Amino acid sequence: MQGVMDDKNVAKHIKFCQRHLQLLPSHRLDIDPNRLAIAFYSLTAIELLGKPVRKDFQYSLDWIRSCYIELADYSGFAIPSFRHAKQLTTINLPNTLFGLICLMLLGDHEFFDEKLNRDTLGKFISSCQLPDGSFTSFLDNAGYPSKFDSHDLRFCYIAVSILYLIGCRSESDFSRYINVSKLLQYIMSRQCTMGGFGDWNEPHGGYTSCALSALSLLNQLQNIPASFRQDTLHWLVNRQVSAIGVFVEQDLNDDYDPDDSGGFNGRENKLADTCYAFWCLNSLRILEPQRWSQLIDVPLIRDYLLNQTQNKMVGGFAKNDQDDPDIYHSMMGISALKLIDDEINGVLCIPKLIMDNFNLR
Ligand SMILES: [Zn+2]
Repeated sequence: MQGVMDDKNVAKHIKFCQRHLQLLPSHRLDIDPNRLAIAFYSLTAIELLGKPVRKDFQYSLDWIRSCYIELADYSGFAIPSFRHAKQLTTINLPNTLFGLICLMLLGDHEFFDEKLNRDTLGKFISSCQLPDGSFTSFLDNAGYPSKFDSHDLRFCYIAVSILYLIGCRSESDFSRYINVSKLLQYIMSRQCTMGGFGDWNEPHGGYTSCALSALSLLNQLQNIPASFRQDTLHWLVNRQVSAIGVFVEQDLNDDYDPDDSGGFNGRENKLADTCYAFWCLNSLRILEPQRWSQLIDVPLIRDYLLNQTQNKMVGGFAKNDQDDPDIYHSMMGISALKLIDDEINGVLCIPKLIMDNFNLR
């Protein structure tokens, strides 16, 4: 059983991520709405693999800075090809979080000190909040939350993370921009009977991580009811599927695949998936910062990631042991392994070295 990523695989992963980054300045791909996400996944993964991106990827800086759009009342990140349209709808919450973290990874203190307009960015976040406390990810041309967008725990988490990155720490800091009590009501309304958070009373690993991370940034973890906390821990621990040991989930799971052993799934009766290792481990760490690793089988999840979903030929990680590697699951697989090694702040999904460089907690 192999417990660490060896140097040869690290070099392949870095090349895999670099190939995605090298596509960035191409005009042909200017309309790709996911370009900031790709930059965020690639730069985060490379940094976590031990290659400081602020040294080798400064060529990305101008492009990422150019994604920061200031309108009269709002600011945020959008894809530059849409910049000339000056449409509010092109700025969205995920792009804004990805853009800010990319600039942190690139060590761009000047942007945060001199270019970032916290008032207009805060106004954008504020305007995305709906009366029920949740958030849409973008606004319509009149400056109201888009009716065509979904609103769920992901965007709540992203909104809170962005506010944290622009300096909000206390409840009164956050309350300058958003209705914190409505947001908390919304998050807590997504508790599920069997533990975890999700829509329609169906707990989901990703939503659970988003809810717990948002509560952590808002300093509200102490308000989680004790019995729900216990149920959530139980639900999370049972996301690890295993053919050996004390885990019995596979007996109940018709879709159980023996090759999934050690991996985490995101919902009941689903197959394991690389990204849920991160979402579930992060959730466990938030709820049990000291004891989390005793609740699951850590060597088995390492083994699943390194020997089932890591691609040792071309680099990167795949969703499972069948698919080709992709940049999202590569970043998630590497982040899960680095979470175990305590090298990443899972709540914000930022490498700890970068957190230190920006003096963030
Ligand atoms: Zn996945």
